[in-house]
Amino acid sequence: MKPYSRRDFLRAIGWGTLAASGAGSVWGAPIHEGSSIIEAGKNISRGGPAFLEDGVVVQPRREIPVLRETDVLVVGGGTAGVVAALAAARAGVRVTLVERYGCFGGLWTAGLVLIVLSTHVRAGGKHQKMVYGIGDEMLARIAAIRHGAVNYGADSTQDATTDPEVTKYVMAGMLREAGVDILLNSWVTNAVMDGNVIRGVLFESKSGCLAVKAKQVVDATGDGDVFDAAGAESVPHVHRIGLVHRLGNVPSSVDAKTLNLGSVTPVPDVRWVNMQGPQGDCTDIETLTQCELDGREAIWRRVKEIQESAGGEQVFVLDVASQLGVRASRTLAGTEELRLEDWKQEKQYPDVIGVGGDYSFIPGRGCSIPYGVLVPKSIDNLLAAGRCVAADNTMLNYTRLIAPCMLTGHAAGAAAALAVTSDVAPRNVGLPVLQDMLRQQKAFLG
Ligand SMILES: Cc1cc2nc3c(=O)[nH]c(=O)nc-3n(C[C@H](O)[C@H](O)[C@H](O)COP(=O)(O)OP(=O)(O)OC[C@H]3O[C@@H](n4cnc5c(N)ncnc54)[C@H](O)[C@@H]3O)c2cc1C
Repeated sequence: MKPYSRRDFLRAIGWGTLAASGAGSVWGAPIHEGSSIIEAGKNISRGGPAFLEDGVVVQPRREIPVLRETDVLVVGGGTAGVVAALAAARAGVRVTLVERYGCFGGLWTAGLVLIVLSTHVRAGGKHQKMVYGIGDEMLARIAAIRHGAVNYGADSTQDATTDPEVTKYVMAGMLREAGVDILLNSWVTNAVMDGNVIRGVLFESKSGCLAVKAKQVVDATGDGDVFDAAGAESVPHVHRIGLVHRLGNVPSSVDAKTLNLGSVTPVPDVRWVNMQGPQGDCTDIETLTQCELDGREAIWRRVKEIQESAGGEQVFVLDVASQLGVRASRTLAGTEELRLEDWKQEKQYPDVIGVGGDYSFIPGRGCSIPYGVLVPKSIDNLLAAGRCVAADNTMLNYTRLIAPCMLTGHAAGAAAALAVTSDVAPRNVGLPVLQDMLRQQKAFLG
């Protein structure tokens, strides 16, 4: 029999044309085919090593190279950041998106949190959609891909569950289509300030420490890393820190409830398992390290138990989230705060920027979100989006859900673009113009 060659394999998985053109060498190729020695290495921006002065570690004073100058800089490529970048780019300004990992989606994908909560209101046996606009378009694109989503669609009375790899792929495609300038594997470490105005950020990368200058900045890091570095007022939180995982080979014949095998995913026989985890300070590196290690051990202990139970013998750990499940760490002290009391009393906001679906606190009623929850009290040219927006201690459990993160991301991106084109600080953008812009991008404002 003829030996099965690399080309046969590539053809079998649909990469045959690439293999024939030689581009198949982009992966799996032996080193001698794929690497070459370059003339001179790049000058990495470190400014020389740090040194000890009287036992204190000192970093030398240095100039930081500016890699990009942009109109709107979005930091963090999770749900909120990706939607913000798309909203701003579609409003016609130049957008740069900086993300610390190598993919988009944050907790939704790298964190393996797969159920998109609060897109709808459920009342009187009906399931009424609230979240439209860019988030809704993203969900539709995910659902259009085979095994992209389950429980999705007008008829579904449950919340959609998405596949993380499909979501990463769709997000990257939408960003590239919109012409967003992307920097991955780039960890933002500090803000560049000019009094109360943020002019950009510094980030660490394999190319050393670099800067991006921007007219407007959106902090979508989830932890408020940028507004904290900029000196904005914020509220610290401790919350439960979990580590989510997926199980493979869970046949439908197994009693998933009794064995506690989590929830359904779009991939047959694969289930995702949430974890509550201990409470901790998510800005403390030692706490984060401990949670990663303990979380992984707990998962493997439980899987061993499952494998020792009748029906669970063939179940295996498909993957453990590469992003730790941080629920809340810092929230912005905004010019407004989303409060449970206001939702209960159906408060109407003149500056409404989106209406989310219901949640366990107040079932059967949508939640209006005002613009002020994105706007810092004292820092200019900066907006927050996603799970770090201003909310009281109960409502942060609402604003951190994936669908509300889509809404605040959408509004932050549109407002940042409007601040650029009208040359004003975000707190001074024309609200009717912003609301019109959001409606044009198909958002639902009630
Ligand atoms: C265990 C757990 C279970 C949950 N369950 C559900 C659920 O069932 N349904 C639901 O709707 N929601 C759930 N949530 C909440 C929801 O998943 C998240 O709150 C939401 O996805 C947050 O989106 P985000 O864009 O605000 O932040 P993130 O998803 O955290 O995105 C932030 C992004 O910024 C990047 N970043 C962070 N810091 C920096 C930096 N300094 N420089 C550059 N990049 C940076 C991160 O890598 C990430 O990509 C859960 C959360 C957890 C932790």
